[in-house]
Amino acid sequence: MNLEPVSIMRSIKTIRDVVGWGLCVGCGACQYFCGKDSIALENIETIGIRPIFKKAQDVNYSECLKFCPGYSIGATRNLQHNEHVIFHPLIGPALEIWQGCASDKDIRYNASSGGAVSALAAYCLEKENMEFVLHVGMDKYTPWYNKTVQSKSRTDLLARAGSRYAPSSPCEALSLIEASARPCVFIGKPCDVAAVSSLRKYRSKLDANLGLVLTFFCAGPPCTAGTLSLLKELNIEKKATNEIRYRGKGWPGHFQVSFNNGTEHKKLTYEESWGKLTDHHRSFRCNLCPDGLGELADISCGDAWHLYDKQNNDFGQSLVLARSERGSEILHRAMENGYLQLEPSKLADVIKAQPMTGRRAAIFGRLLAMKTLLMPVPQFIGFPLSKIWLKNPIKLKIKTYLGTLRRLLTRGLWHQKPLNPA
Ligand SMILES: Cc1cc2nc3c(=O)[nH]c(=O)nc-3n(C[C@H](O)[C@H](O)[C@H](O)COP(=O)(O)OP(=O)(O)OC[C@H]3O[C@@H](n4cnc5c(N)ncnc54)[C@H](O)[C@@H]3O)c2cc1C
Repeated sequence: MNLEPVSIMRSIKTIRDVVGWGLCVGCGACQYFCGKDSIALENIETIGIRPIFKKAQDVNYSECLKFCPGYSIGATRNLQHNEHVIFHPLIGPALEIWQGCASDKDIRYNASSGGAVSALAAYCLEKENMEFVLHVGMDKYTPWYNKTVQSKSRTDLLARAGSRYAPSSPCEALSLIEASARPCVFIGKPCDVAAVSSLRKYRSKLDANLGLVLTFFCAGPPCTAGTLSLLKELNIEKKATNEIRYRGKGWPGHFQVSFNNGTEHKKLTYEESWGKLTDHHRSFRCNLCPDGLGELADISCGDAWHLYDKQNNDFGQSLVLARSERGSEILHRAMENGYLQLEPSKLADVIKAQPMTGRRAAIFGRLLAMKTLLMPVPQFIGFPLSKIWLKNPIKLKIKTYLGTLRRLLTRGLWHQKPLNPA
């Protein structure tokens, strides 16, 4: 008889477990770290981009836990000794908050919000002598997919401006930044940036070549099935598409499709498409994200929804948060050089503009529900999650906790899924 003590709380020992428990965010960092011989990335239509493990046993699979954002995210300590830091428990630390837009009319028009992300990237290429921008654009052969790309010019950046509400894995190509002769810009979702901020501690060349790390506010990317269901609703055959855009060409822009023959163009409003894209098409792990506003980047940008007026035909306004000293310095130089037109904003505006700031207050309750079902939970270190949870009204706490339990049980998320190969 085996008398060894049995732990009933399931634990995570390697990134295989992260994937099996549905906690992977699909950033691609494990492929960069372990190499393509060990890990392939596959876009699973109803889930997202996930690693496929090519070797049954590999020590790197456990080593990856030290940077895997699905497993662990640590709040930034960049600014802990800076006396000018502004802090809100729902937003995290920042040095400055601004609102406004790119000065370049084309960038602003093509971008998602005010084009601040693309304008900052263009400034780094043109004035800070950075080598390239590693980010995400449409895959021209399969427009319903994203592709990790290098942009080397303003033209490249313009072609890739605009949010793409579909899976992306920009960390897969970090070796390009590592091998670069000069510093580069990295643009990714907050979870991609979390991987980058951990990885740079272990890879000195990567650290040295990360000239600027940019992110945007993110409520979570829908899986490919979201895009395909919109195409179906518009009666569009995916193979007939030449370009799929989710935002941009105005604010907030439309979900737009153009065709191989160039003749047709179908549109849904942002409100129509965003609701349908996110309905049942986002992973549960995104609901646990403690960093939707990107506090681990040098600069994070989002929609300045508090300035949005449907009647006004405004071409877009961004919120811009300097999250590090480097971010603040580059932001000021970009403004001085005429790349951005910004005016001061404040914490209250960020909360007003972004209802999703409230999501951080629900995470502790969701983790509690996972623990009740003896599921392993991600490690979120240094975020004030329990403090803000305690401030929620009791009714909301019960609703969040029971709602999460129900979701975990009905969606079968409470047990580990087998992986291939075993
Ligand atoms: C999945 C997702 C969820 C979002 N959720 C929110 C939200 O809740 N609230 C909110 O205010 N805004 C949200 N946004 C929009 C985002 O905040 C805006 O892109 C941001 O305001 C930056 O606008 P911009 O005009 O400065 O960026 P732009 O100048 O348009 O540049 C956008 C940049 O983002 C990159 N990018 C686009 N799609 C992806 C992707 N899937 N993965 C990685 N990089 C990508 C592009 O490569 C480009 O460099 C979301 C965007 C995405 C992709």
